[in-house]
Amino acid sequence: MSAQLFVVSTPIGHLDDITYRAIDVLKSVKIIAAEDTRTSAQLLKHFNINTPLTACHDHNESNKIDQLIERLKNGEDMALISDAGTPLISDPGFKLVRAAQENDIRVIPVPGACAAIAALSAVGLPSDRFSFEGFLPSKQSQRLLNLEKLKDETQTMIIYEAPHRILECVKDMAQVFGADRSVGFAREITKTFETIKKMTLGELVDFVANDHNQQKGEIVLVIGGSVEEKDMEQEKLDKLLLRLLQDLSVKAASQLAADLTGIKKKIAYQRALELTQAND
Ligand code: SAM
Repeated sequence: MSAQLFVVSTPIGHLDDITYRAIDVLKSVKIIAAEDTRTSAQLLKHFNINTPLTACHDHNESNKIDQLIERLKNGEDMALISDAGTPLISDPGFKLVRAAQENDIRVIPVPGACAAIAALSAVGLPSDRFSFEGFLPSKQSQRLLNLEKLKDETQTMIIYEAPHRILECVKDMAQVFGADRSVGFAREITKTFETIKKMTLGELVDFVANDHNQQKGEIVLVIGGSVEEKDMEQEKLDKLLLRLLQDLSVKAASQLAADLTGIKKKIAYQRALELTQAND
C-alpha cells in the first residue's frame, strides 16, 4: 500500500511559528525530503526530531523524484519541507507533488507560515483578491517588461525581492506604476528587525535609499492594484456629492460634481441617486 506525502510548512523566522501538527508529522514520517539538509537539520534539532533527511532541491529534483516516489510506493510516509515557509511557494517541491499525484499517492498539506500571506495580512492593502508574482527577473530590462504587464492589474500583487536588488526594484516600480501607487513593505517578518510599513512607491524609494538597514534581510513587497486608485476616485466623488446633496437637488449636485471633476454627468447623476436612496 502506498504511503502519504505530507507538504509541511516551517517557520519563516520565529521558530515558534511551527504547528503542533507539523512537529507530529515530521516525527512520525519515515523520511523528510528537504531543500537543504543542513538548514533543516538545525530546525529538526531544535524540535528534537530525529527523522532522517534527504535532499530534494532545484538541482536534483528531477533525478530524485523517481527514488522518492518508489519509497512512497513501498509504504514509507514522507514529509516535504523547504528552508523556510511553505514548500513550492518560490521554493522546490512542485515536481515531487505532481509526480505523487500522478502516481495516486495521497498528498496532504500541513499548512503554516508563508511570507507572502503574512505580509498581505499585515500591510493594510486590499486582500480580497491578490496575485502572487514570486521573484521578478533580476535583469532590469526583463523586470521592466514584467512590470509593464502588471501595470493595469487590478488585484493586489505580492512580490518577493532580494535585499541587494530592493532599491533598484522599487525605483523601477515607481517608474512603471507611478510614484503615487500604494505599496506595503514587509521586511524580516517575525524576526528581531521586523519592519511593516505602508506608503507610496515614491516614499518607499526614499525610505530604502536613506536607510541602508532597509536593504538587508528578507523582503516582501505588496503592491496595491490599479483598481485601488479607481476606488479612491470613487471615494472622492462620493464625498463631494454627499456635501453637495446637503444643499442641492440630485440634478444640480450631479451637474456641479460633473463640472468640477470631469466625470460624465450621467455617472455623477446615477451615483447621486444611489447615495440619496442609501441615506433615505
Ligand atoms: N517558501 C517561502 C514562503 O513560504 O514564504 C518563500 C521562500 S523564497 C526562496 C524566500 C523569499 O521569501 C525571500 O527572499 C523573501 O522575499 C520572502 N521571505 C521569506 N521569509 C521572509 C521573512 N521572514 N520576511 C520577509 N520576507 C520573507
